[in-house]
Amino acid sequence: MVRYNEIREGEVAIEPPAPTDAGLVFIGRIRTPWTDRMMTPRQGRHDGPICRIEIFEPWVQALQGLDQYSKVEVLYWLHQSRRDLVLQSPASDGTTRGTFSLRSPVRPNPIGTSVAKFVGIEGATVLVRGLDCLDGTPLIDLKPDRCQFTPIAPPQAGDFEVEA
Ligand code: SAM
Repeated sequence: MVRYNEIREGEVAIEPPAPTDAGLVFIGRIRTPWTDRMMTPRQGRHDGPICRIEIFEPWVQALQGLDQYSKVEVLYWLHQSRRDLVLQSPASDGTTRGTFSLRSPVRPNPIGTSVAKFVGIEGATVLVRGLDCLDGTPLIDLKPDRCQFTPIAPPQAGDFEVEA
């Protein structure tokens, strides 16, 4: 179940280390119809509403070529998440699971990922369907979907499985 910042029965929070700057740069902002976590889908759907990914300068040039792909991996920073739970109770029923066995937004580094359906590019804005984040969520990265992407450089040794 979606949460604000409450602790539920059985959940365990720890005293997290002070966050250090990992050197992330927010490269844009995601505009979605959702302003409340309770209303936001738990996972995006490709028949969901169009969301607008606004890219900041100086990164707009980096969009070149993205329109070749029908699916785009979107990485974003779930900025309103608490970051201190190691055990969580998604069903709010006292039963818990470890944070790393969940796709909950509550994690030490609250990174969300979605494979979104590419709709188009309007100037510095990428239009997609299939997101599940709040309006104003900071954007970390965009990548072509790994299933559609063929490496452009020649193959190298580690690209192939070696039989023992
Ligand atoms: N698709 C991503 C993933 O699997 O990594 C995120 C999944 S997470 C379950 C999606 C939920 O995170 C939403 O339903 C909403 O409750 C919450 N959420 C969305 N945007 C958020 C934000 N900016 N800060 C905190 N929580 C957010």
